[in-house]
Amino acid sequence: MTEENKPAQPASAPASAPAAAPHSSPRPEGRPPFRRRPESRRKVCKLCADKVDKVNYKDAHLLKSFTMESGKMLSRRITGACARHQRQITRAIKRNRNLAILPYSAE
Ligand SMILES: [Zn+2]
Repeated sequence: MTEENKPAQPASAPASAPAAAPHSSPRPEGRPPFRRRPESRRKVCKLCADKVDKVNYKDAHLLKSFTMESGKMLSRRITGACARHQRQITRAIKRNRNLAILPYSAE
């Protein structure tokens, strides 16, 4: 058996790599580039992490950490609380406002 080990194709690919691509023009002024957040760190529910089963409405210190200084409640997007705990927090804060432990709005 005689096997000729010749190259399948002559390796003479044309070097057609232009120095500058036509679409690599500088970004036009005006619209800022869309930028994703660099790293979306997953927020973990603080209460789940602490294994809180039920939010104690008397824990004003905890509830205060879920409100803004103006007395507004913070949204889940900001607190990172899970749905279950956010519901409990909401009710606890409202209860606390009624008991005048937390303010409806701080002046
Ligand atoms: Zn939770």
